[in-house]
Amino acid sequence: MIQSNVIEIAKRLIAYPTTTPNECGIYEYICELLKGFNALRLDKNEVKNLFLYRVVGIDSSIWMKKIELGEYQGELLHFCFGGHIDVVPAGEGWDSDPFIPEIRGEYLLGRGSQDMKGGVAAFLDALNQMLKKEEYSKPVLFSVLLTSDEEGVGIDGTRYALECLETKNLIPNYAIVAEPTCVNEFGDMIKIGRRGSINGILTIHGKQGHVAYPDKCINPVELLGKRLGDLAGYDLDLGDENFMPSKLVITDIRGGMEVVNVTPNELRIMFNVRNNTLTTKESLENYIKKTLEGLEYDLEIKVSSDPFISQRQGTLISILQDSIHKITKHKPELSTSGGTSDARFFAKYGCEVVEFGVCNDKIHSINERVKISDLMLLGTVFSEVIERIKGV
Ligand SMILES: [Zn+2]
Repeated sequence: MIQSNVIEIAKRLIAYPTTTPNECGIYEYICELLKGFNALRLDKNEVKNLFLYRVVGIDSSIWMKKIELGEYQGELLHFCFGGHIDVVPAGEGWDSDPFIPEIRGEYLLGRGSQDMKGGVAAFLDALNQMLKKEEYSKPVLFSVLLTSDEEGVGIDGTRYALECLETKNLIPNYAIVAEPTCVNEFGDMIKIGRRGSINGILTIHGKQGHVAYPDKCINPVELLGKRLGDLAGYDLDLGDENFMPSKLVITDIRGGMEVVNVTPNELRIMFNVRNNTLTTKESLENYIKKTLEGLEYDLEIKVSSDPFISQRQGTLISILQDSIHKITKHKPELSTSGGTSDARFFAKYGCEVVEFGVCNDKIHSINERVKISDLMLLGTVFSEVIERIKGV
């Protein structure tokens, strides 16, 4: 077992230039670090996924054997840390090499330091600490699921890996995805859900003609005109205690030939809905159908990600909240703000999943950096969570 700590681990992870979907050998280091865990590679196409698992407690070796032999039926409590080892490209203009980690004052600099090699380092360290302790408690399955394609299209990453794990009865009951979630101070926010995203293209058909003979044209601008207010900025639901309303946001409208004497043949409208769990692709389609009744149009709608929500009173959420409070004295806000994350894939299987990690103020930016104290505290919070999970 490598003797190490969270900062050392974070530095090692940052030094692998793992822009999506490259893995660059980082899994070899991680497997070496968590030597007591069994490793399963769940790669697909160029995406590299790694699942590490270890049963701790009474009869752990019997359970490990069962899993290895494919005889495991999901009997144990299973807790998983999820994350991604890929990073977005570094870009130009850094003060130092983005893949040579550098400690500057109270910060550790490097691409991925916040998103999310810092979070990965914290749970690897916590699990490494766990392995050093003898266990005589009831058996619990601990695992890690990593992908090299979170910043990319995300089809062959966590989503695919979970499909594989389902066939082996290895879907976790609880999962923490260690994305950076805190806002102003470490410990101030947990994400308990995320909105989904639906993209749409609406084409309203008319009949082109001379502007002086409007009765001979069908002007799609006029067709849309009266109904635009029921689309642009329209709240498709009222939202709830977890989410704000799902708003239909128009991002582009175009039609015509940039002249003043010809009416357009058609009008193309692009839009996006960041939807909560109250609005679905189907309900959106129905709403548009009702709103545009009588018009000739084509509608293309694509779901780019589904929303998810974990119950506020859930076991994992209270364990995590209590652990954060114990270590930081913060009572973290339970939020669903921000874009999407791989946590949504866990939620699909009924797993209670939340996201918690370091502060998010420099992700994807030049000179990305993480507060060293955030990393140390995150490792301690994760150790606390592990101890409490054993008592569930
Ligand atoms: Zn991330």
